[in-house]
Amino acid sequence: MQTAENNRQYRKQLKEALDNAFQRKALDNFAVAYRGIRVSNFEGIDRARLIERIGKAKDAAMARVDALYHQFREKAEAAGATVHLAASDAAANEIIARIAAENSCTRIVKSKSMTAEETLLNHFLENRGYEVIETDLGEWIIQLRREGPSHMVMPAIHLSRNEVSRLFTEVTGKPQDTDIEKLVKVARRELRERFVTADMGISGANFAIAETGTLGIVSNEGNVGLVTTMPRVHVALVGIDKLTATVADALTVLTGLPRNATGQAITSYVTWITGANPSGASATGRKNMHIVFLDNGRSALAGDPVFSQALRCVRCGACANVCPIYRLVGGHAYGHIYIGAIGLILTYFFHGRDKDKHLIENCLNCQACKEVCVAGIDLPRLIREVQKVVVHSAEQPFLPGLMAAYVLKRRRVFHALLRSGRYVQQPVTGNTSYARHLPDLLFKDHKFKELPALAKKPFRDQWQPAAYRPARPRYKVALFSGCLQDFVYPEQLLAGTEMLKGSRVRLDFIQAQGCCGLPLYMLGEHGAAADLARWNMANIDPGEYDFVLTLCASCASHMKENYPFLLEKQAGTRVNARQYADKVIDYSSFMLLVGESAAAGKNARGQKAAYHAPCHLCRGLGVSAAPRELLEIAGYAYVPHDEEETCCGLGGSYSFKFPEVSAAILDKKLGAVAETGAEILVTDCPGCVMQLRGGALKQGRPIKVLHMAEALQQSK
Ligand code: SF4
Ligand code: SF4
Repeated sequence: MQTAENNRQYRKQLKEALDNAFQRKALDNFAVAYRGIRVSNFEGIDRARLIERIGKAKDAAMARVDALYHQFREKAEAAGATVHLAASDAAANEIIARIAAENSCTRIVKSKSMTAEETLLNHFLENRGYEVIETDLGEWIIQLRREGPSHMVMPAIHLSRNEVSRLFTEVTGKPQDTDIEKLVKVARRELRERFVTADMGISGANFAIAETGTLGIVSNEGNVGLVTTMPRVHVALVGIDKLTATVADALTVLTGLPRNATGQAITSYVTWITGANPSGASATGRKNMHIVFLDNGRSALAGDPVFSQALRCVRCGACANVCPIYRLVGGHAYGHIYIGAIGLILTYFFHGRDKDKHLIENCLNCQACKEVCVAGIDLPRLIREVQKVVVHSAEQPFLPGLMAAYVLKRRRVFHALLRSGRYVQQPVTGNTSYARHLPDLLFKDHKFKELPALAKKPFRDQWQPAAYRPARPRYKVALFSGCLQDFVYPEQLLAGTEMLKGSRVRLDFIQAQGCCGLPLYMLGEHGAAADLARWNMANIDPGEYDFVLTLCASCASHMKENYPFLLEKQAGTRVNARQYADKVIDYSSFMLLVGESAAAGKNARGQKAAYHAPCHLCRGLGVSAAPRELLEIAGYAYVPHDEEETCCGLGGSYSFKFPEVSAAILDKKLGAVAETGAEILVTDCPGCVMQLRGGALKQGRPIKVLHMAEALQQSK
């Protein structure tokens, strides 16, 4: 798929991908199956410890990548291999073409290699007149279709067996069955003869072990053994990020890689090659073996304090498997060459800004990729960092970001705009609580949900502190309202605070507080987001409070995770930011702390309640059990569903940038909830309420969407 020139084109590509019913079903089935198998294959393993060990081993290797390269080279050359270092993709391709020419090779068999995809090696060699044959089944299929892989581990996951059967019929000139086993046999028959007659084999490698000069390759099909042993010349193209110090480090990675990739404890084959092995096909009796290391921006990346962790990636593909966007649109629409979360990052460094500028926007910040990454890469953080660089390196300043920064940083201006907005919204709302008459010109793609109107009176104008002044307070708490609840959903804050009346919680609401800054962070305006963090910390002194309580999971996660990060390099604010972050607490966790009696209710009477876990709560803050417990305490019959922790599709401004994808994710979520037969759907974030309630209303679904505070209040 061509890289889109502009956002409109990119959205068109996404729409086409969404319309691909087979691909959607295949990816969906895989995402559901993957969830289960990955969990079971880590049984008996301390996964957190393993991730830490992989991360440390990879970081240590990249910190001395030059030394490891030289050590590897010495060992591998002593064992008869020739080692090359290519600074760029073009240089790597030239080296390989030269090796082919010098050895009079014409037919090349290849095993799967993402690094070769990165350098577009096949096209390069074919343009020089070589015959290149992919021998991994999936890779062969996509090569015949002149496509790139749509997944790093399963390159042809987007294709049905009917499509493959038609393709094989065309290639062999004979009608072919749609039975998968028979199709595999066709491929085997066609490829066997090529192995025998090939002069050169090209492979990638998962490990290049410096202490022994050994390459390690994991595979499931057995073609790697043939590619690396049968032809007289073997070339391995390896990113320098595959260098590992020791065999023990490689085995540590090997413990996690197949488990995370396909849910296998170990792949069918792990091939270890040290130097030039004996070869009957070679006149010298030894394999002519070359190892081409590719830099292509990796050593610059290794020296970067923020981005170097991207080089920990072991290419397991799991960050795509769990990504709600990949699950819908697949890898051709969700990547350039590398796909999924890591692809959004590596594309910028390996292929340049232009290839990444639209892709990088296509992220909900749902954090599912971070949770699954076996190398412990903070993928959402790196995605936001790349986005910041992309935004600030544009020829034209990004106006929506600049305008948002200007307004949000001026609290009085921002609040004045919101206050006046409620007077001018009448033609759009028609005196309802929803913005029902939005102009088609701007909003035609956003009509998959009802959008709420601004509230008549913000929470800050209704706040009555006198009710929250117990004589002997147990907790002193600052309430952080967040803009959405303050100006759109004040009833959620009123319900939430109502539940604390009569408790031993002293609650302060400081009027000077501003936006938490998350929208600016999501737009790449990190400087302005840091300014807002400083503003809020200056007005809510963490030293004076036991907790900073917010009913918005997104505000909570942003303040807890991102304030220290944004202010880390600013003298004098780091300690305060950490102290502030430590005091931030979400509503469900706080209500449990206050005690069961505060949440206990009698009116729910076992009403069936489903729960939607906001990404920023379950993954951002790691809060999982508290909301479910609260529902039970309040008297609801909590009914679980499989998609409980899947993003609702809002993602802040994401829903406005990519409404088609947002709508499809929402649809899936509401469908899963409907299957539970729940009467109410409860969540802890006003953003999720907006998305889910708006969608349920638009689709006419008979389910009431409530914030947790409203659910507790209803049952009281
Ligand atoms: S944060 Fe969520 S949407 Fe973004 S890349 Fe990761 S999994 Fe995908
Ligand atoms: S970033 Fe992590 S999850 Fe994604 S492919 Fe790399 S190692 Fe796997």
